Order: sequence, then structure tokens, then C-alpha cells
Amino acid sequence: MIELKHFSSFFIANWKLNGSFDFIDNFINNLSTGKSTKNCITLCVPYVYLSYVSGRRTTFNIGAQDCSIFESGAYTGEISAKMLRELEIDFCIIGHSERRQYFNETNEIVKQKAIKLIENSIVPIICIGESLNDKEKGNTHEVLGNQIENSIPEISNELNTIIAYEPIWAIGTGLTPSIEEIDVSHKFIRNLTSKYNNYKIVYGGSVNAKNSKLISEIEGVNGSLIGGCSLKIEEFNQIIS
Ligand code: PEP
Repeated sequence: MIELKHFSSFFIANWKLNGSFDFIDNFINNLSTGKSTKNCITLCVPYVYLSYVSGRRTTFNIGAQDCSIFESGAYTGEISAKMLRELEIDFCIIGHSERRQYFNETNEIVKQKAIKLIENSIVPIICIGESLNDKEKGNTHEVLGNQIENSIPEISNELNTIIAYEPIWAIGTGLTPSIEEIDVSHKFIRNLTSKYNNYKIVYGGSVNAKNSKLISEIEGVNGSLIGGCSLKIEEFNQIIS
């Protein structure tokens, strides 16, 4: 498994359902892998491109965007953690709000996926975050606490798991919490129990070249998960520089 403690900042590109061979060639040809070896740059690409991107790997890492709770068998369309391992994938996003919302992924399912990934030496990037409704009702901490308790398995620790704090209302909307709100949420997650004190916790939700510096300077924010702006190579380069 990749050594998380070796890195101080994580920049995780979530391409979602986007990309093509031309797009990948252009992206990788122009990707500036940053000045610091302490930066962990990871491209989470659609399954069908994992092998191709893996073949073009330089100093960046590769991640998937989901995996099955099953290892093998009659589960048409599924991809297992064991299969991802064969491609030498280092990371896998699970529990993204889009999967929770459109594919009925529950905390229990997220937990089972995390276990499968860790068993196969892949770091799960476990996404949690409150909806706008939760936020407006003042329920953010209750929701985050519940997601952490129920989607992060016992076998997770700071060496094998990353938490991504992604307020749902900030994803793809151009809206972001204030710096203070991000700080408060990260502190809440980190201090929920002593188990989480040393976890790598990244922020996700409308990160762009303008706001990334301020966000990355928040103590306790160990990088970002970037959706829309990870599809624009110039902007992604600015974020990681
Ligand atoms: C995401 O997809 O996890 C995400 C944070 O998207 P965006 O950066 O577009 O808000």
C-alpha cells in the first residue's frame, strides 16, 4: 500500500464520467507534477481508462472512482478491489455523494467497500458531507458523525484510509463554505474520537485555482478532492503548484 505518511498534501482529481484517449494524452503531456515530492497527485479516472493511464504513469498516482463490495461471482457489471489491485491502483474514491444519491450507496455499503479495498492494499478515499438542508437545520456535525461512525470500518487507520470532507451543496455548484466553516468541520472530524486525530483529511467542493491556496493553508486540511477543475489541465496545474 502507498505510504500516506510520506505526503503532506493530496491533490485528488475526480474526473467522474468524463475523458477520452485524446483528453488523457493532452492531460498527461501537460501535467506539471508539482515541485514537492511531499505532494501526492492522484488521477481518479473511469474504469476503462485505468490501464491506459497506468501505462502512462509518471510521478502521479492512479485511483478508481468506485469498487464492488463483492470479490467475484455473478455480479454483472461490477469491478472488484482485487481486480483494481491487479492494475496497481493505489486509491479508490468511495461514498461520493453522487453515488450515495444516484446509486443508493449507504454507509454500510461504503464500509464494506472500504474493507475490501484495504484488504487489497488500496487506500479508500471515503467521502462524507452534509446536504444544504442538513446545514440549514444546523445538523452538519450530527450528519458527519453518523457517516463517520457508520461508513469507516474498524480496520481503517491513518495509514490506510483518507477522509474527504465534501459538503454536498458545494459540489459542482461554485459555492464553498467559508474558510472558518471548513476549519470547524475538519476539526470536528479530526477530534470526533482519538482514532481520527492523525488521519489525512482532504476538502472537496468547488475547489479552483483561486480558492485552493487559502483552503490548503487551513491547518488540518491535507489537500483537496477536485472535480470540475480537474478536467482543465491549466487550472489543475495551478491548484497543485
Ligand atoms: C467532487 O466531485 O468530488 C467535487 C468536489 O466536484 P467539484 O470540484 O466540481 O465541486
